[in-house]
Amino acid sequence: MLKILKNPDFIDGIYNYCDSWCERCAFTSKCMNFAMRKYKENIETDPQTGDSLSEVFRQTTDIIKQIIEAKGISWEEVVNQTEPETPQVDPHKEADKHQNVRTAQEYTHLYGSFLKNEQGFMKGKGVEFQNDLNKGIISVDEAEEALAQIEDAFEVINWYQSLIYIKIRNACQLFFEENLSDFMVEYYTGKAKLTLISIDRSIAAWLVLQVHFPEKVNKITEILFQLEKLRRQIEKDFPNARKFVRPGLDE
Ligand code: SF4
Repeated sequence: MLKILKNPDFIDGIYNYCDSWCERCAFTSKCMNFAMRKYKENIETDPQTGDSLSEVFRQTTDIIKQIIEAKGISWEEVVNQTEPETPQVDPHKEADKHQNVRTAQEYTHLYGSFLKNEQGFMKGKGVEFQNDLNKGIISVDEAEEALAQIEDAFEVINWYQSLIYIKIRNACQLFFEENLSDFMVEYYTGKAKLTLISIDRSIAAWLVLQVHFPEKVNKITEILFQLEKLRRQIEKDFPNARKFVRPGLDE
């Protein structure tokens, strides 16, 4: 466990601003979060390790305790800290009614209704490709490439649609918190950047679908409009987000 935590190859905090799509991530060997997850999975699947989850948690607490005490703060002080006073403004409520969060929610609904109403259209595309192949209009390679593009576009849209809502809500909620440290201001700026990147990638994926499904242009345009609106709002509300450099990922 300590060996994992002390790996010098790790990029500090990379997992704070990533899209959590580890299967597609080029930084798994530099990510403490990924290493910890693998370690936990190994413990759960291998009874021979002799290590248990409660032991992992105990070790983690010990390590945090050591880090805190190394900074000159007593562990007892941290444990006995009183709850902060309830703020005048409730950041959760403010976030829920913020235009960015509402627009993100609307995008999620649009995405859901698009999938629900268009369930058969992928099947239809398969039949269309088959007919075009039979007529010699397209080659097997072209059909395979088009299907791969469509599949990838769906995966991207699907992955980011929930992330967009979760990350922008998180950024907005922190924005309304009082007395935030510089680190936390950076943290929510980084979350806003991650949301912007998720929107950029989603827009690119929807455009791929628009090329392959010209008959759906009206619905896809409505969705693109929603994403563009959200992208502009976030850029206005978090003016430093685009400039934020995510450790490892943007360097
Ligand atoms: S940085 Fe990469 S490996 Fe680490 S949690 Fe994020 S996506 Fe997964």
